[in-house]
Amino acid sequence: MSKTFASQADLEDKKVSFTQLSEHAWAYTAEGDPNTGIVIGDDAVLVADTQATPAMAADVIRRIREVTDKPIKYVVLTHYHAVRVLGATAYRPDHIIASQDTRDLIVERGEQDKASEIGRFPRLFRDVESVPAGLTWPTLTFTGKMTLWLGKLEVQLLQLGRGHTKGDTVVWLPQERTLLSGDLVEFDATPYAGDAYFKDWPATLDRVAALQPAALVPGRGAALMTPDAVQAGLAGTRGFIADLRASVEAGVAAGRELNAVYKETIARLRPKYGHWVIFDHCMPFDVTRCYDEMTQYTDPRIWTAERDRQMWETLES
Ligand SMILES: [Zn+2]
Repeated sequence: MSKTFASQADLEDKKVSFTQLSEHAWAYTAEGDPNTGIVIGDDAVLVADTQATPAMAADVIRRIREVTDKPIKYVVLTHYHAVRVLGATAYRPDHIIASQDTRDLIVERGEQDKASEIGRFPRLFRDVESVPAGLTWPTLTFTGKMTLWLGKLEVQLLQLGRGHTKGDTVVWLPQERTLLSGDLVEFDATPYAGDAYFKDWPATLDRVAALQPAALVPGRGAALMTPDAVQAGLAGTRGFIADLRASVEAGVAAGRELNAVYKETIARLRPKYGHWVIFDHCMPFDVTRCYDEMTQYTDPRIWTAERDRQMWETLES
């Protein structure tokens, strides 16, 4: 029995929630679909991660307009993935902000990623024809840390290390200890690790934990509204990454080929994580990347629509 490629069989719409986490922060979540974080400052609104298309971003804007009429001045890209960035034009922001590492990834592999992700997740690219030609380009980039002041509200953009990608950025509101993590942290959703750095991700999560967030918007899954819920999100993500790496490392040490390592690893992880959304979608990409990192590729190889299919046929046939 072969599985349908990636998420092509996943066609059922999810229920959207728009949740206030703290005085200035809101979360647009949808039962495990990609989240958008919103910060409403004294004089402007910041949106972190845009949704996959301008048509889908229009629903985020509709929710924002139910609570504020302040201008949406800033869009932050927590990382370069198409499903996070291609809705940007809908917000008509003054600035699109990303780490320089994220911009470098857009230059290097943005086109391939766009084609690859649209092929994997047709449902997440609703009205894909509303995406303008070309790519989403940051208008401001930074390295390490950047601070925005939305009136009296301090908003820090932080690179805490590599994890989900090499460009990962979190949005941190120190005055209310609220964090928008992007895909560095997931909750009841399988971390996608096809562009990940398994050796770095745990230490990056330690730096997230060291901020001691009181509330957190994960990349996927429900908003985490208490310190205990934040810890649960961090522990779940950390456990998945560690368990997957341990299984792949054992297989590599035993001299096994990727296909055998994949089958062992998915069997080993399914009892604990198989109920998380997109588990079957992510596992072939995650194990392939981990195997690469543990053998000969320090940096993730570029995924193309064609490579996606070849990998899937090799591992799932
Ligand atoms: Zn991502």
